[in-house]
Amino acid sequence: MLFFETETPDGWAIPGLHGNSAADEMDGYVQGSVFLIKSEGEALIFDTGNRAPGTENSMSPRLLANLERDRVTLRWIFISHFHYDHTGAAKELRARYGAKVVCHPIERPIIEDPLFVTRRQNAERFGTTPEQLTEDFNLASGETLALSDPSVIERYWNFPVKVDAEVKGGDVIEVGALKLEVVDLPGHSPGQIGLWNPATRSLYSADLSNFPSPLAPYPIGNAEKHVQSLLHAKSLRPVYYWEGHFFGTYSEAATQRRLDHLLQQQHDTSERIVTVLGRAGRPQTIAEILPELFPVKLDAAYPVPTGVTRRSAYAEACIQTHLHWLVARQKVARIKDQGLVKWTVVETA
Ligand SMILES: [Zn+2]
Repeated sequence: MLFFETETPDGWAIPGLHGNSAADEMDGYVQGSVFLIKSEGEALIFDTGNRAPGTENSMSPRLLANLERDRVTLRWIFISHFHYDHTGAAKELRARYGAKVVCHPIERPIIEDPLFVTRRQNAERFGTTPEQLTEDFNLASGETLALSDPSVIERYWNFPVKVDAEVKGGDVIEVGALKLEVVDLPGHSPGQIGLWNPATRSLYSADLSNFPSPLAPYPIGNAEKHVQSLLHAKSLRPVYYWEGHFFGTYSEAATQRRLDHLLQQQHDTSERIVTVLGRAGRPQTIAEILPELFPVKLDAAYPVPTGVTRRSAYAEACIQTHLHWLVARQKVARIKDQGLVKWTVVETA
């Protein structure tokens, strides 16, 4: 989604770098949103965009120019979640302005050390193991699921920044006269947080509109929590709904429609999986479900190298999160068939 700088009721928004190289940005396919919220000479930056290693094509120069122009004191760098396209410029901004970096405690270890995401310890804190997380995908020997590969993270998104404070849903962050409320929005990532400004009824929703989590299963996207977060966002009845990769919506009615659409999408994905499994008449692997589930190319369905072949790792991870939810609701069963993990519909009387 391509967009340009704009004023908001709370400050302004600029597009941030999203891809990993200058070339990635040339097609204008997707950008990250960077928001500034200001009041009485103080400011908070909500996410920072990516930073491309070895290039000058970072959003920072533009952001810096705006901050100088506005003559505001940057007090907070609010990181909605650990994904590199939201954290990339945080270190530079912190060093330059002395602003405090804040995030949710669950995201903190990965923000302070992006390679943490690939370690056993990371999976274990969610009650699982790297082996359990990847078993569902029936990986070939030597195959890794894209961004779970340390060499990929080291090369493309190893931008650690020290976190100064942890915040969670219900906490209040003061910026000038504003009292901004932290909102828990897990699902896309486990500790994703947004910000709510009741004064202008603005919800900064990070990647709430971007499920599947591109990095699932590291450290685990969650379809059920995502749906709960969408309902939570809806209940706030925002007038302005600011998205992590787009401006969003500008009226209460439009925001409700946007959130209803996302809820419908999640519902339909689960229903389609059940339909596909039922029609197949025999247990299916995630790779077998994929072509029927996303016959129209989904944003996340593009193939990525896995060290052995190329797979639609993000789309497969999206299907995995829905399958786990279907299993929890006893609509689908997970079985092992000749060494492969497969899924089948639970027959109800
Ligand atoms: Zn994200």
